[in-house]
Amino acid sequence: MGDFTTDYLIVGAGAMGLAFADTLLAELPDVSITIVDRHAKPGGHWNDAYPFVTLHQPSAYYGVASLPLGSGQIDSHGLNAGLYELASGPEVSAYYEHVMNRVLLPSGRVRYLPMSDYKGDGRIVSLISGAETRVEIARKTVDSTYLGTSVPSTHTRKFTVADGVRIMPPNDLPHLWRAPDAMPRHFTVLGAGKTGMDTIIFLLNAGATPDMISWVAPRASWFYNRKSIQPGAVFFERTLGAALKMRQAIGEASDASDMFLRMEACGWMHRISRDVLPTMFHYAVSSEAEIALLRRVTDVIRQGRVLALEPEWMVMEHGTRATAPGTLFIDCTATAVERRPPVPVFQPGLIVPQMVRMPQPAFSAALIAWVEAHVDGEAAQNALTRAVPLPDTIQEFARAELVNIGNEGKWSANPAMRAWIDNCRLDSMGKEIRRVTPADTDKMAILMQMMPATMAAAANLQRLTA
Ligand SMILES: Cc1cc2nc3c(=O)[nH]c(=O)nc-3n(C[C@H](O)[C@H](O)[C@H](O)COP(=O)(O)OP(=O)(O)OC[C@H]3O[C@@H](n4cnc5c(N)ncnc54)[C@H](O)[C@@H]3O)c2cc1C
Repeated sequence: MGDFTTDYLIVGAGAMGLAFADTLLAELPDVSITIVDRHAKPGGHWNDAYPFVTLHQPSAYYGVASLPLGSGQIDSHGLNAGLYELASGPEVSAYYEHVMNRVLLPSGRVRYLPMSDYKGDGRIVSLISGAETRVEIARKTVDSTYLGTSVPSTHTRKFTVADGVRIMPPNDLPHLWRAPDAMPRHFTVLGAGKTGMDTIIFLLNAGATPDMISWVAPRASWFYNRKSIQPGAVFFERTLGAALKMRQAIGEASDASDMFLRMEACGWMHRISRDVLPTMFHYAVSSEAEIALLRRVTDVIRQGRVLALEPEWMVMEHGTRATAPGTLFIDCTATAVERRPPVPVFQPGLIVPQMVRMPQPAFSAALIAWVEAHVDGEAAQNALTRAVPLPDTIQEFARAELVNIGNEGKWSANPAMRAWIDNCRLDSMGKEIRRVTPADTDKMAILMQMMPATMAAAANLQRLTA
């Protein structure tokens, strides 16, 4: 017998757990939900984010389905000018607190246990008191921790740091003003992902000159061009036109490199150095202005991953490099989202939310909740929610895109599901597509070509992944 009973136990109050809870509550208003999380506040990894982080995708389709995030404005200045706003880390954290305190808890159906560790088998341990509570789970456990998010302030470094080496996570950079006499003379940013990019942009905007920055970027990466993934009516032709060209490019590509070059040519992807053919793709998103700024840093070190930081040397997989006097290293090497193998989303007594539309964690979790509410039987549920494997290399992108296209096809064949998606705030274009009439000739022309282009892309992806 447990101390209390709940229909659903959600482990993790991050983007996935909260998007799932919000949609489940909307679709099954009578169920009871318990949410347990080690953090003191909702929002998962956003609690530990560096202060200058922002979303890299528009706020318009992040968060939970029932509550808009941000004010829906197009930025008029800065590196995102002309594009839909990106919530800052503090805005995302405040939003999730609002979701918990103004949406979920007032329903009377949700219990929230912060600073609590879920140990499995219905055992919840308070991190503060050590007291154990037992919960009876009437329906299912929802393990929203599977994506394994990792951020610089909490991850474990995979390289050694000798005494005397100055290193910090990006979280501490804004505090440098407190010790002006100890201001670094050089900054070496470790890591080529979104965090490394954000850090370089922060330093340049804060007054560092490009020659004060070195960037250890073992592999070059492709990025989504943010202007091609904008939501709403204003961007209909641009976004869906780019999506069409992207599908056509995939359909015509001879191999992975050719596919990315074609996607670059149609404005869907971009890269920092045009002299380097990137081999990595993690679905990071950037604007053209951000890329232009990043190009100003020319000391880009490609000698593999860092193994050790010695007082005068940096040891990497493929060589060493002398450290400039007064260097501060900034650790941006956390993985963000771990590459764990996809597992069935629906298992006996268990739901494991994963990305079923890449790269949209919030939409994915909400859709999985809809399936839980409206589709009977694990086989049918899993048929609609195949987890998309997170790519690391450009070759792996083909496999991810094939699953993406397969899932979209199954959703479109299910009218109730399609109607829910098209009305869901977390879907960027469904509503606009529904509004198109035969009189909208330009829009119709794009939509008419989308299906054959998608089929050709799927056929070519099958060939490329065979
Ligand atoms: C810097 C950054 C920027 C990003 N920007 C975007 C973006 O613009 N758009 C986008 O779509 N995605 C973005 N992402 C990705 C996306 O936000 C994340 O994938 C998503 O937030 C992950 O949410 P989650 O709920 O899966 O994981 P988390 O946020 O990690 O939440 C999991 C929670 O589970 C808790 N937990 C784990 N184990 C236990 C346990 N045993 N007991 C109790 N609690 C436990 C943890 O404390 C944590 O709070 C970004 C990610 C990062 C790192």
